[in-house]
Order: sequence, then C-alpha cells, then structure tokens
Amino acid sequence: MLTITITSLSGGQGKTTTALFLGRLLSRQGFPTLMLDSDPQHNLTTYLGFELEPNQPTLLEFLKKTVTPEDCIYPTSYNDNLFLIPADDQLDTVQDYLSNSGVGATLLKRRLEAVAKIFKVCIIDAPPQRSQICLTVIGAADYLVIPAEASVKGYGSLVRTLDLLGGLRDVGATNAEVLGVLPFRDRWFGNTQAQESRAAVEGMRDEVDAGLVLPSIRESERYKQAINKRATLSELGYTDLEYPFEILIEKIGKLIGSK
Ligand code: ATP
Ligand code: MG
Repeated sequence: MLTITITSLSGGQGKTTTALFLGRLLSRQGFPTLMLDSDPQHNLTTYLGFELEPNQPTLLEFLKKTVTPEDCIYPTSYNDNLFLIPADDQLDTVQDYLSNSGVGATLLKRRLEAVAKIFKVCIIDAPPQRSQICLTVIGAADYLVIPAEASVKGYGSLVRTLDLLGGLRDVGATNAEVLGVLPFRDRWFGNTQAQESRAAVEGMRDEVDAGLVLPSIRESERYKQAINKRATLSELGYTDLEYPFEILIEKIGKLIGSK
C-alpha cells in the first residue's frame, strides 16, 4: 500500500478538496483506495456523506486499537473501491494518547500495516495545525502532497510544512518525500494571472524543485459544486479543471506500479 498524506500547515489550503478528488479518481481507476480523515473538524467524513453515531468506531479507535482495524473502515456510496476511516470531533482526545505513547510519530504507520494488504493506496487528509495528529500522519506517509493557496498565506503554509518535514526527517520520524506542491485557488482573469497568484507560485518554485510544483487548482466555484454533488469534475463536464489531479494520478499510478 502506498500512503500519501495531504498536508499544509494553515487552514483552507485545499487539503480536504485534494484528498477527496484524489480518492474518487483513484478508486474510479480501479485501485482499492482507503481514505483516512485525520482532522477533528471531519470535513472529509462529511463530504463523503457520513453521519456517524457516537458509538461508531473512527480513527480514534483505530489509533488506540480498542477495536479491530476492520471495524473502523467503512465502504462509501461512491463506488466499491473507495473506503474511509472517518473522524469526529472526539478525535482531538487522541493528542495526549499520542504524546504519552512515546512513539507518536510512528504509531499510525504501525497501525496501517494491519490493512496494507487490502488496499493499493491510502490517502490521508491532515489537520491544519502542527499537532500530534499531524506528526503521526506525516510519519505514516511514503509521500506528501502539499496544497498551498496561491497567495502570501499559502506560500507561508508551504514553507512551514517543508520546515516540519525537514525536522521530522532529520530525527528519523518520517521517510516521507514530497510528491508534489499543488497551488490552490490560483486566480486568473481571462488569460492573465493575478499578480499575487503569480508571485506566490513563483515563490513555491523557488522553495522546492520546480518540477514538483503541479499545475494549479484554479479559483472556481465548480470545485465546490463537484464536492456538493459527490462527483468528480469530469463527471460534471469540467474535464479541464481536473488536469492537476490527472497529473498527480499519473505520478501515483507509476509509484503503485513500481511498489
Ligand atoms: P482546513 O485546513 O480547514 O481543513 P483545507 O486545507 O482542507 O481546510 P479545503 O476545505 O479543501 O481546505 O478548502 C477550503 C475552502 O475552499 C472550502 O470551502 C472549499 O469548498 C473551497 N474550495 C475548494 N476548491 C476551490 C476552488 N477551486 N476555488 C475556490 N474555492 C475552493
Ligand atoms: Mg480540511
């Protein structure tokens, strides 16, 4: 199983949007795909149409190992290949458990070993804060995708995320590599890119190998429409807007093939 964490250390950087479309597209291509919602705000869980009862197992129980791993994995209505380990706001209570465990950064990686034979790929939606949960989802990753708004705030989010990754790699808490940086809400007026967007994307190209900066997610209501209608962009006829994800899926497909 190839594990990819979608992370970026600010709110509203496109993490959940990216995780959701990647999961849908990978599963539609026939890959058994596990999505994991690691944000106590649980937007991914909501977008996938789940309303959990308080007693239903989630990522909290998966991490604490209080039930069998399979009991925390739910099929989704999207298709037969897409599964979810959901979250609810109780997930916040796992922070102490992770820090007291002494192996917080590697705990999720260990837990995922139990299901690694069932899925080809695991897509993790990370929370925006630099929390214990954030450390464990980066620790579990083979690769990171870092979405970052094409703005000053987004550039800062990328820099903080790369700093954290560097620090964790330095102490052996993760082996994750950056698979791609995905500029989010890139603003264009006709054929002209907004100045702030252009400056931010150029800044991103200076921070990482320029080849790692993926084609942008444009500022557009159509992404929200697709999220709300539980569809992919191409299913709604917006094939051109799906391009950044197609490039990512191509990269991921090659990695799965070589695993
Ligand atoms: P958080 O840090 O709160 O978890 P996030 O990084 O997961 O946020 P998203 O929730 O994916 O970010 O996106 C932030 C907001 O932008 C959402 O309301 C989403 O619907 C909206 N959005 C998604 N795609 C686009 C787009 N292409 N253009 C404009 N807004 C978008
Ligand atoms: Mg989110």
